[in-house]
Amino acid sequence: MPFDKVMTQTMTDTPDTPVAPTPKVKTLPNSQTVTEVTHWTDRLFSFRVTRPASFRFRSGEFVMIGLMGDNGKPLLRAYSIASPSWDDELEFYSIKVPDGPLTSKLQHMKVGDEIILRPKPVGTLVHDALLPGKRLWFFATGTGIAPFASLIREPQTYDDYETIILTHTCRHVEDLEYGRKLVESLRDDPLIGEMVGDKLVYYPTTTQEDSPKMGRVTDLLRDGTLFKDLGIDGITRETDRAMVCGSIGLNKDLMEILEGFGLREGANSEPMEYVVEKAFVD
Ligand SMILES: Cc1cc2nc3c(=O)[nH]c(=O)nc-3n(C[C@H](O)[C@H](O)[C@H](O)COP(=O)(O)OP(=O)(O)OC[C@H]3O[C@@H](n4cnc5c(N)ncnc54)[C@H](O)[C@@H]3O)c2cc1C
Repeated sequence: MPFDKVMTQTMTDTPDTPVAPTPKVKTLPNSQTVTEVTHWTDRLFSFRVTRPASFRFRSGEFVMIGLMGDNGKPLLRAYSIASPSWDDELEFYSIKVPDGPLTSKLQHMKVGDEIILRPKPVGTLVHDALLPGKRLWFFATGTGIAPFASLIREPQTYDDYETIILTHTCRHVEDLEYGRKLVESLRDDPLIGEMVGDKLVYYPTTTQEDSPKMGRVTDLLRDGTLFKDLGIDGITRETDRAMVCGSIGLNKDLMEILEGFGLREGANSEPMEYVVEKAFVD
């Protein structure tokens, strides 16, 4: 039916006259469609969106995403891509900040809604920024697990390292759920389950609620509990590589600890033994 005929009908016909459904029009610049939304707690959710065929990124990178603001301008924030580089879709893991300009709205989105995805992924939590090693540490707090959710699904991680240790520290047990489920599902994953095997060690801790392992990862590293729990001697420049993603305070403390073990901070332009990225700006 021609468009003008539909318009005429909607304006003049009786309510029970069938009207052709309005075609879905892409309205936002660089828009992508939401395909899945999962609410993990009242402060955390994850979602998946369509991926443009031309969108390339390295597992561990972040990108600017957002919504159109009330002023008609895009409201964008940095988000780590939580899915691996080979996935057909893009996954994100998000905080819900009650008064946050973006997440106060983003948390209400539904399947079929659109978000803005800027096409320029960047970041330092990438394999290219580390020198070869035997053991790779991922240190995350809160939503800082997002880049590692990507990297633990990346085959290169298992090709390049003998052991991968993911530590995730949150306030409450329920805040660990997204990471715990993901790690659990990997062993049976038809695509990379075999590569993961026993190589991935998961070390979750909580700081404000009782759980099998309590404490800040920095304290557990400083007093040697972490090494004792995992049955390893410690961190050395020869064998260990690390990626850190947390609050500015955690990043600073971990950098100090890692440098104490002799590791040096790397970058895309100059690979070294550890890399760090802010999980958010305080
Ligand atoms: C490199 C980079 C990658 C990021 N990746 C992610 C990601 O994968 N997932 C994600 O949820 N956020 C991520 N962020 C934070 C994100 O950019 C926004 O700050 C967040 O989505 C909140 O947006 P907002 O507009 O609602 O509030 P904002 O005005 O941006 O933030 C308000 C306040 O909320 C707090 N806050 C913001 N983000 C977080 C967070 N993630 N955890 C705890 N407290 C927070 C801070 O105190 C901040 O000052 C990242 C930030 C950076 C710099």
